[in-house]
Amino acid sequence: MRFASANIAVEELFGTRNIVAVVDLPSRLDILSNRLPKALGLNSELLISNHTSLPLFAPFLSGDALHRVRRSMLGNKGGTVHSRIGIMASGVKSLRKLRFCPVCVNEDRSKYGECYWHRVHNIAGINVCAHHGCILQDSILSFQRQSTYYAYNAAEDYIPEIEFADPTPANLHLYALAKQAYWLLNNISNADLKDMYNVYRRCLDLRGLTTASNSIRQQQLQSTFIDFYTPELLDTISCSLEDVHQTWLSRLVGGDYVAHHPLRHLLVLHFFGHTPESALKSLDEPTPDPFGHGPWPCLNRVCPHSHKDVIETCNVRRSRYTRDRPIGTFACPFCGFSYIRTGPDQSQNSRYHISKIQEFGFIWEKRLVELFAQQILSLRAISKILGVDPNTVKRHAQRLMDTGDKTLNKDLSNTNASLDATDLLISHRHTWLKAIKVFPQFGVSQLRKRFSTAYAWLYRNDKAWLFLHTPARSSRIFRTNRVSWPARDKLLLQAVQEAATRILNQEQWPKQMTLGAIGREAACLPILQRHLDKLPKTADRLKDLVETREAWAVRRLQWTINQAQNQGLILKGWEIVQRSGLGRFPKKWFEHHGIQF
Ligand SMILES: [Zn+2]
Ligand SMILES: [Zn+2]
Repeated sequence: MRFASANIAVEELFGTRNIVAVVDLPSRLDILSNRLPKALGLNSELLISNHTSLPLFAPFLSGDALHRVRRSMLGNKGGTVHSRIGIMASGVKSLRKLRFCPVCVNEDRSKYGECYWHRVHNIAGINVCAHHGCILQDSILSFQRQSTYYAYNAAEDYIPEIEFADPTPANLHLYALAKQAYWLLNNISNADLKDMYNVYRRCLDLRGLTTASNSIRQQQLQSTFIDFYTPELLDTISCSLEDVHQTWLSRLVGGDYVAHHPLRHLLVLHFFGHTPESALKSLDEPTPDPFGHGPWPCLNRVCPHSHKDVIETCNVRRSRYTRDRPIGTFACPFCGFSYIRTGPDQSQNSRYHISKIQEFGFIWEKRLVELFAQQILSLRAISKILGVDPNTVKRHAQRLMDTGDKTLNKDLSNTNASLDATDLLISHRHTWLKAIKVFPQFGVSQLRKRFSTAYAWLYRNDKAWLFLHTPARSSRIFRTNRVSWPARDKLLLQAVQEAATRILNQEQWPKQMTLGAIGREAACLPILQRHLDKLPKTADRLKDLVETREAWAVRRLQWTINQAQNQGLILKGWEIVQRSGLGRFPKKWFEHHGIQF
């Protein structure tokens, strides 16, 4: 078919001359498909999926938004498409010229006798060829020249002869992103933005990038993300993360339901070790048991079996208060601690999440009374040790010290009636000594009131011993304002040691062992910062505990490998590099640590 001029061709095909040629997301496709010869077998749906960039955007739009964009493209509302789809607001620089891959051009020319414009070469931010990985080159055909608004420009007219084309991939990350874009352009899926958010959430959980209260560890995410891609690379594709508090990354993974540029979604997927294909597949994997397989861990921090899998059974129920999500109840047989969790578990890591504590159990309560009675650690420090917030500590301390004392009494004294006199003597002496130890701040009258059975028995049968073992008032050193630094040093040494162990045993992505991290975990950072010179033992221990960046990296590497092993995966060298987020280290470094490529 021949047209007298481009204007006439435009009018014939689109029903008006008053339009502009658009490369990625054109409109008036219903009109066009009706006017094309039927023999071509092209309907408007095929035009959209095979000849526009919409399939690349589709999985990253909400169902509604996609529907509206599609309607605009089929109809004559082309002007609204680009703003709806998030390109305008994204800050990803749009292309100035149509681009090509020199290797593809040579291949096309020898295969078809001419080259053509490829969709995947003309996506902003995808700067290398999806087939060869080499850097895409600008043609001389500008997007913005007025004269091209109507024109139909064959690639052959704008791409020069190419003598030598270097097919070496320029950057492996960019190459992977380009391949993923290509896959999306050529595979239609029903997934939408909500599905993607589910994928991100699962990946964040798996990486230990969410907290127990389900919020995202943004800073950690950002720093590993930047480590993975390098700031330079992110900068070249207009995706740098500058303001830590409000980056596109935090908004995107946070699920803001705003359209983001597909390039950014691809960056996130690739960072998590996914391709769009594997991500969509992972959505179909069922989670059969809402809480996985038992046994489950006791999550009482002060239980001797803390974080060990000792809970054999889990009671699952559903409630309309949780919108029918399953609720599991877990009780430790050793310490009586029980907790509930709302399921289903999103990842292995969810095993360590508590939605609510039901019972604290006797070990926890005893430890609380002990810690409180010592009057040395701050409320915050105690709450850290016990794994609950300070208000909970306060509430339970009051309950136990005032009215609920009976449970403590019961535990401390043995009331078995069948005991003979010697047993009774031993038992009451034991109770009394323990009472003095647990309540060092109490005078004899308070102790007598609280442990009346033991006191009365000893007073009648063992008076001499009792008077020898009565607390002297002057021993209450912690009431005075004088600070005993050696005593503090000893206590802090223990607190620091325990905090370090907790950090090391965390299931999540390893935190660097710094003075700050240890101090915060032990809830004694200010005193460490101000008075470390008066705490020689603690200072010495800290010197050993604090970790260099290198040591930290080794630990992250090990963590990645262990995590994969736990999931039954055998990773290749490059996958380990990717997952560990340590891409900045040279290959040699990995090899030195036993990773084979
Ligand atoms: Zn190519
Ligand atoms: Zn326990």
